[in-house]
Amino acid sequence: MMAENSKKKGKVYLIGAGPGDPDLITIRGSSLLSSCDVIIYDNLIPHELIVTAPPHIEKIYVGKSASAHTLPQEKINELLVEHARQGKNVARLKGGDPFVFGRGGEEAEYLRKNDVDFEVVPGVTAGLAAAASAGIPPSHRDMSSAILLLTAHGAADHDLFVDWDWVGKVKKGTVIGYMGVRQLPTVVEKLIEGGMPPGIEAAMIERCCFSTQKVVRARLEDLPAEAERQNVNPPAIFIIGEVAALSEKLEWYNRKMLSGVRIMITRPADQSRWIYQLFRNMGAEVIAYPTIKTRYNDDKEGWEKFIRSGGKDNWLFFSGENGVRYFFGYLKSKQIDLRLVGRYAIAAAGHGTLRALRDLGYQPDYAPSVSGMVKFAQQMCEDIEVHKIKLIRVRGQLPHDNIAEILKKGGAEVHPLTLYKTEYADWRENEIKRLFMHPPHMIMFSSGKSVDGLVNILGHDKALELAAKSKIATIGPTTSEVVRKYKMEVELEATRHSIPDLINQIVQYYQKK
Ligand code: SAH
Repeated sequence: MMAENSKKKGKVYLIGAGPGDPDLITIRGSSLLSSCDVIIYDNLIPHELIVTAPPHIEKIYVGKSASAHTLPQEKINELLVEHARQGKNVARLKGGDPFVFGRGGEEAEYLRKNDVDFEVVPGVTAGLAAAASAGIPPSHRDMSSAILLLTAHGAADHDLFVDWDWVGKVKKGTVIGYMGVRQLPTVVEKLIEGGMPPGIEAAMIERCCFSTQKVVRARLEDLPAEAERQNVNPPAIFIIGEVAALSEKLEWYNRKMLSGVRIMITRPADQSRWIYQLFRNMGAEVIAYPTIKTRYNDDKEGWEKFIRSGGKDNWLFFSGENGVRYFFGYLKSKQIDLRLVGRYAIAAAGHGTLRALRDLGYQPDYAPSVSGMVKFAQQMCEDIEVHKIKLIRVRGQLPHDNIAEILKKGGAEVHPLTLYKTEYADWRENEIKRLFMHPPHMIMFSSGKSVDGLVNILGHDKALELAAKSKIATIGPTTSEVVRKYKMEVELEATRHSIPDLINQIVQYYQKK
């Protein structure tokens, strides 16, 4: 046991996030991201890792991009120490591996100097990831028994760190270069001057491990021209060596159903992990940019009504996964006995709602498969003697509750239980920039509110600009109406008002193409 007066000491975890696919972080790294107190992260970190981290964790962006340094390195160092001294556990998230061309070493030195505990969690470094994803084994019994990782940053300056003459003499080895898009012509020239055969095989890989990665192959002397012709942009890795020739034979990437397709998912991140995963398994690149987020709303009056009512002809009405999640989450957190729910008949509108309830072991009494909430309520009025029932309507905060109106008109006694609030998300400027740099091919909206969210975050003009670069898929007519209200076009609409149906439609759409 620690002495009572000893202050809790924070620790800094220098974590490698891998090359950009959020699935390529280590299990250790991933678990720290959900247990730390603050995440301090760079440019090139997968957005999904940030948006899926628990909401109570503070997230601080300190990224650098080739053009602008957001925060000087000294300030980042100080920030790490400052947070650790406040007793926080800091996840310092860096692209690739934290100790490979990422200044992680300097951060560790500074932490040691200031007597702050740290741990290094290695990551998949971009150079090796690029080789793997392009089908280039950098070591090979017949062709290469040495691998050299180098940075081309500063190659055009006089005070070179890399001895290009020496690198030019590497034989039976593979040279892997970071930060080399702009410097490529200079690097190639110096290597050839240093003795590297101009005809040796080479490749450049842009945004490796994304389903939209680009692989450019050429002989060394032709690589700069070829990279320019194919418009290679940072981040990219170049690979030089006999092994680069294998890339053609061993190409394995981009062979899935949705390879090359970027899909933007706008629903709240905490409900979307399975969708991200599903799309990724089919080969798509997922742009996890939620436009809305939900937060708990303590509706004391609603709960009171729920707890007191119950009995014959009393109903619980769920119309979304969120309602189910927040409802049962609350009961659990307050240790309220689940048997209370048994006093109610349950209505579930929508496939997602039905599935969420079934996952918990509930078999709703009423769940016809109709498309749209309004139709559902109308159908309920036809099928059930609603004038006899009292209904607890589990929901989020809504300006108008169409469902309640219809049921009330039918004679039902409706009590709202407003469990969550939906808020617009906010995206940082660099995140917006990144979005426009690699815009989605398809934007998926699963509620009108998520469309409002996009317009709210970007402003109408920019939202239109994004929509013009993409196609839009919606969960049903109500959401489509909101899209059209903003003068955007709907390309696809789910027919059964469910996310799985929407996903199916998207898959079919790209298969037909
Ligand atoms: N610590 C990182 C490297 C940071 S330096 C690591 O271990 O990977 C940034 C450089 O990494 C970029 O200029 C680019 O050369 C390379 N890079 C990072 N992510 C990349 C990706 N997905 N595809 C290709 N190159 C990438």
